Amino acid sequence: MPLGNPATPIGIANINSTVTTPFTLHVIPRDQHTISRKDISPNALRVLYRLREAGFGAYLVGGAVRDLLVDGRPKDFDVATDATPEQVKQLFRNCRLIGRRFRLAHVVFGREIIEVATFRANSDDGSGDREVENGMLVRDNVYGSIEDDAVRRDFTCNALYYAIEDFSVRDYTGGFEDVMARRMRLIGDPEQRYREDPVRMLRAVRLAAKLNFQIDGPTAEPLPRLANLLSEAAPARLFEEVLKLFLSGHGVASFEGLERYGLFAVLFPESAAALKSNRTGALRRILIEGLRNTDDRVANEEPVSPAFLFALLLWPAFCRALIGLQKQGMAPEEAQRRAADRVTLHQLTTIALPRRFSLPMQEIWLLQSRFGSRQRKRVLRTLSHPRFRAAFDFLLLRQAASPEHQDDIAFWREAQLQNGQDLESAPDSVLAEDGQEGDVPRRRRRRRRSGGSATTTTTGE
Ligand code: ATP
Ligand code: MG
Repeated sequence: MPLGNPATPIGIANINSTVTTPFTLHVIPRDQHTISRKDISPNALRVLYRLREAGFGAYLVGGAVRDLLVDGRPKDFDVATDATPEQVKQLFRNCRLIGRRFRLAHVVFGREIIEVATFRANSDDGSGDREVENGMLVRDNVYGSIEDDAVRRDFTCNALYYAIEDFSVRDYTGGFEDVMARRMRLIGDPEQRYREDPVRMLRAVRLAAKLNFQIDGPTAEPLPRLANLLSEAAPARLFEEVLKLFLSGHGVASFEGLERYGLFAVLFPESAAALKSNRTGALRRILIEGLRNTDDRVANEEPVSPAFLFALLLWPAFCRALIGLQKQGMAPEEAQRRAADRVTLHQLTTIALPRRFSLPMQEIWLLQSRFGSRQRKRVLRTLSHPRFRAAFDFLLLRQAASPEHQDDIAFWREAQLQNGQDLESAPDSVLAEDGQEGDVPRRRRRRRRSGGSATTTTTGE
């Protein structure tokens, strides 16, 4: 395919038609873009040069090119080439081939893996190496041209190729112009592309939040209409996407985007309903505060946990279920356990939350009710609970919505400062023996709570 003149305007009509329409190549030479080799992983450069020396086309592609153009630091560097996976393997000793359905080469440099993918077409014409097993497509290696590879991608900003041969950026879909305008635009017909893969709706919101891009009108328009398609996506994939949405440092912006386009209600129906009916707005404040904290932690490179995240996202649902059960007359402890189980079970139909996260999530919820107790044995047990720290952090968030947790926070902060031994020998004035509230200086309790704070809070929050 002849190289297009860099000045040639991009055929907008082409882009808005279907993915099979030929696209115009736009080459952005080195002096007209900001991608510099010093910002590219040296291992990715090694792979690119080796492929090139062996006579193959070699390009950096996808998120890395996009992030480099917007001054971001890519978290991984993917390479695209016209070499087959087997040919790639022959070039690198440290290479392994992975994937049955889509065969990919991984070139391994210690902890860094450079993924090398052969140009792929999205064709259904029966050509290429396809294998069907029990009606399921198990192998789908339909190799194609760089142009085929570009148009099967989702957004124009993700379909840019940085060529090691001349350091230019190759653009088949108008992505360069879109990145410069900070615009997310689907390649091809938006509705068709969302129907093919509804997870692209989440990617639109996530990438717009991460990059601070606007979603282009025609790309945004079908989102509320098609949001329900998401419930048909694979629950395991939705779990992964939710982690990326909320644990990549842009959780607040992601949440706002999801709500704006009606996607949050499809992912978390019960929490969405609870947020809607919570007139004080307290549940929303907790959620936003929690997401903001998580974003700060990511920015400071502190660890974040899926269990805590889901405890946060499903807290509105939990509170709502709890109120419902208590209205039916169920005892507080039983109601809490039942509410936790019910919310978890319902959520699993949409998002596959693994047990290793759902169990600690429930523990974080159930520990909330223990923070109201000053009974010596209970205090010690709560302090030594493996989820104590997370549950206490959660209590701090709840404080954002309602100042009623102030006393509990002061008490448990103090309790943590003393070590277990100090507590064992603490006078009864600090720890009540019989479940009475302790008479703690500067932390005098305003009223006695019998049901536990999560119970009290559900009506308050
Ligand atoms: P991130 O910064 O989260 O890694 P990314 O765009 O690199 O963003 P990946 O999931 O790593 O996301 O995907 C790599 C590339 O694969 C994308 O840039 C895009 O070109 C293509 N891609 C990913 N998911 C899809 C999809 N659902 N449909 C079409 N193309 C996709
Ligand atoms: Mg990526």
